[in-house]
Amino acid sequence: MSEFDYDLFVIGGGSGGVRAARMAAGEAGAKVALAEADRYGGTCVIRGCVPKKLMVFASEYAGIPEEAQAYGWEMTRGAFNWPAFQHRLNTELDRLEQIYRNLLAGSNVETFDARATLSGPHQVTLSTGETRTAKHILVATGGHPVRPDLPHANLGIVSDDIFNMQALPKSILIVGGGYIACEFAGILNGLGVEVTQYYRGAQILRGFDDEARGMVAEQMRERGIDLKTGTNILEMAPAEGRRAAGETGAMGGTAQERAELAELTREEDTATGPIWVKSTTGTEGVFDTVLFATGRDPNTKGLGLEELGVKLGRRGQIEVDEYSQTAVPSIYAIGDVTDRVNLTPVAIREGMAFVETVFKGNLTAVDHELIPSAIFTQPEMGTVGLSEEDARDQEPVEIYCTSFRAMQTAFAEKPDRVLMKLIVSQNTRKVLGCHIVAPNAGEMIQLAGVAVKMGATKEDFDRTVAVHPTMSEEIVTMRSPVRTA
Ligand code: NDP
Repeated sequence: MSEFDYDLFVIGGGSGGVRAARMAAGEAGAKVALAEADRYGGTCVIRGCVPKKLMVFASEYAGIPEEAQAYGWEMTRGAFNWPAFQHRLNTELDRLEQIYRNLLAGSNVETFDARATLSGPHQVTLSTGETRTAKHILVATGGHPVRPDLPHANLGIVSDDIFNMQALPKSILIVGGGYIACEFAGILNGLGVEVTQYYRGAQILRGFDDEARGMVAEQMRERGIDLKTGTNILEMAPAEGRRAAGETGAMGGTAQERAELAELTREEDTATGPIWVKSTTGTEGVFDTVLFATGRDPNTKGLGLEELGVKLGRRGQIEVDEYSQTAVPSIYAIGDVTDRVNLTPVAIREGMAFVETVFKGNLTAVDHELIPSAIFTQPEMGTVGLSEEDARDQEPVEIYCTSFRAMQTAFAEKPDRVLMKLIVSQNTRKVLGCHIVAPNAGEMIQLAGVAVKMGATKEDFDRTVAVHPTMSEEIVTMRSPVRTA
């Protein structure tokens, strides 16, 4: 008989926590419990990757009738019905949440629909007042979106709120230039919302390959997004309040702008009501909604971690070693709460490595090298390995790059362009980075990622016969470098 109630208590029922709990119970035969205060599935399933991707699909249908016409179809575009889509979306999320619950039950994981905090190195206290003990505790509480420190910032929404909007706004200001900002700019633009995006830096998607992110930015603008770089939000206030105070409102107050403002302020069905915004470049505008996509912080507040000696980093993230162990030996942490690489498949890997190490006696560090990822902008970007800028700081490289109009959209006379790029080490010939901007780049990069992870050389790519006619064949047919660096 163990001195503890459980071998493992998991706090958080997102991708990482659920996988670790299931594996520890199902594969290692451990006695496991899991507490989740909100919905099972966590950020990815409930308010992140899954509903976001379904919204990407929804928004991409907007361009289909026009393209189909070029291919001879008599097709016209109707209106987008947000409530109808939202209803189906919610039904799907309910279904997925139930699957998560069933998977846990099927693995004999005991679940608590409650908030858990740590009350000892081996003890948790539930919001119901009960306490439970466990030999190991795994913190997998994820993160949450943050607003900038700005008066009236609570007038804006964050990504969690998008899926619950009662109606689509007519106009939106998106603040930020990261994954979430750029993905929602494309989605909402596709759904017919007038999108303005402010990014404080020189180019969106900081950290990614310059040429690739430049192409994404160019095509976002081409598709109608008013992307303003070098611009941030300086002030915001309810537009109605400013009108009442006798201020002219939108963009300097011409008659037309005042009329627009008046119309906006009559709109009752938007999520937050019209918001007046002043930017750091001095422009003013009124938007139905402001979305802050200005980063996410780890969920560590009030968990009782520091009191027990668990070390937190500057942003509140749990500091862990390569086995996800914290400064308190019985407490481990995985996923976004550790702020390593904040992606669902990485949290899952971290959870699996934790179970291997702690419950299967197989010391397994998580491999955070060469993680392929996709940004579901429109156009999509898939990337693995080093950007040209990072690679050339490291060693001499050759750059292979091609940009072209893809057959399908070129036929429909659309201006869309595709980019395929390889960064190759001059010394080892290894492909250090692969960057693709194209429809379904996420699907392509998963496969290119296998080759790059295996250490494929440029000559290995060259030896591979092209699949014709495809966009991705260009990745094996680029003969001469466009430059060396
Ligand atoms: P990011 O950290 O990627 O981006 C935050 C953005 O907000 C940056 O452009 C940042 O600017 C800007 N910003 C931060 N603070 C301020 C401020 N005070 N005022 C104005 N701008 C500000 O965060 P996201 O929220 O977009 O995404 C969080 C994480 O979620 C990502 O890192 C990623 O790991 C994950 N994710 C992954 C997706 C995918 O795989 N497709 C999709 C969505 C999220 P600056 O660059 O100057 O710092």
